[in-house]
Amino acid sequence: MFDDACAVIPGGVNSPVRAFTAVGGTPRFITAADGYWLTDADGNRYVDLVCSWGPMILGHAHPLVVDAVTKAAANGLSFGAPTPGESELAREIIDRMPPVERIRLVNSGTEATMSAVRLARGFTGRAKIVKFSGCYHGHVDALLADAGSGVATLGLPSSPGVTGATAADTIVLPYNDIDVVTQTFEKFGDQIAAVITEASPGNMGVVPPIPGYNAQLRAVTAEHGALLIVDEVMTGFRVSRSGWYGIDPVDADLFTFGKVMSGGLPAAAFGGRAEVMERLAPLGPVYQAGTLSGNPVAVAAGLATLRAADDAVYEKLDDNANRLADLLSGALSNAGVVHHIPQAGNMLSVFFGETLVTDFASARATETWRFAPFFHALLDGGVYPPCSAFEAWFVSAALDDAAFARIADALPAAANAAAAAKEDTP
Ligand code: PLP
Repeated sequence: MFDDACAVIPGGVNSPVRAFTAVGGTPRFITAADGYWLTDADGNRYVDLVCSWGPMILGHAHPLVVDAVTKAAANGLSFGAPTPGESELAREIIDRMPPVERIRLVNSGTEATMSAVRLARGFTGRAKIVKFSGCYHGHVDALLADAGSGVATLGLPSSPGVTGATAADTIVLPYNDIDVVTQTFEKFGDQIAAVITEASPGNMGVVPPIPGYNAQLRAVTAEHGALLIVDEVMTGFRVSRSGWYGIDPVDADLFTFGKVMSGGLPAAAFGGRAEVMERLAPLGPVYQAGTLSGNPVAVAAGLATLRAADDAVYEKLDDNANRLADLLSGALSNAGVVHHIPQAGNMLSVFFGETLVTDFASARATETWRFAPFFHALLDGGVYPPCSAFEAWFVSAALDDAAFARIADALPAAANAAAAAKEDTP
């Protein structure tokens, strides 16, 4: 199947991280998923710790979501006209996110951040954008510089095809260093349209902001008349009912969302203060549009997911993440592998070695070469972890004792494989 795919799709995949480039081997082709189980084309089953890179907090094929999608699909797939569900989803998001007064729906997180940056530039009349090394905001040209996720996994500095002119207005700074942000604003403050940051980064591995960092970003942007864009595509409606905002409530001007609010279908959103959002067409001059934006089937999946994600679900997600972190840490310690497992709410990742990770440079300085054998031993044991040291691990609320028993059984061999790894291990 992979050979077939490689004959017609570049690298055999429609998003680079899926190709297993960082860990070697052949990607599994998934044919079905239910609850926490993934089933591949050979009939192997895995406990899923990726959850489609975040969205599937309720587990796969949740009956309420499947039912909502089936009913919506039976009523027609796309109209190119407003539907009542779009306002319901917008309201559900606004109810969870106090600083958000208006929401616009788009099709992917990339589109959300691209549109938010355009809006920030249109609103302020300024060109420059500050982003942080190791933060990933989708494959927006201006935001690819020193990005995390697949760009980090493949070791790319940025991407050919992004012109110097497009990148010239992007200032890339190290993460978690407020002094460097302040100095940059002292120099270019009147030219900076916005700072964009992941609410709590998960694309260089999980690297939470140091306490007060997001609030300091808020203060410095406000002082210089720039906007703060907080990217909650990964954290939004996952790490709490109100995403990272529920843990660290900093009132940004604009937020971007995706993943969980899509229910697993292509949908995302950006939103914020009415004064800023109402500069969008048709009210204002900043153009933004989409044939399939607010698609009724995707909206139904998102609404059903958010409505089912009650306090009990968020409690279960936190418990499951803590349980997973304990199992990982216990097995690695037993095998004598020095490690850190940073957590941002119910997102976590595994860094090997002594290095304490606070930014992309320190993430890259960890013993990432232990990751591939660790990954493959887990896969052989029927557990599906993320296929890169620079990606977050995602739990669902569906994980139960049987799932954790399987993870516990697979871990000793994986920890021993990580212990035995040599720096030149492919
Ligand atoms: N922003 C963040 C924080 C993300 O993690 C991602 C994707 O992983 C994106 C934006 C881009 O979203 P999408 O892959 O839907 O384009």
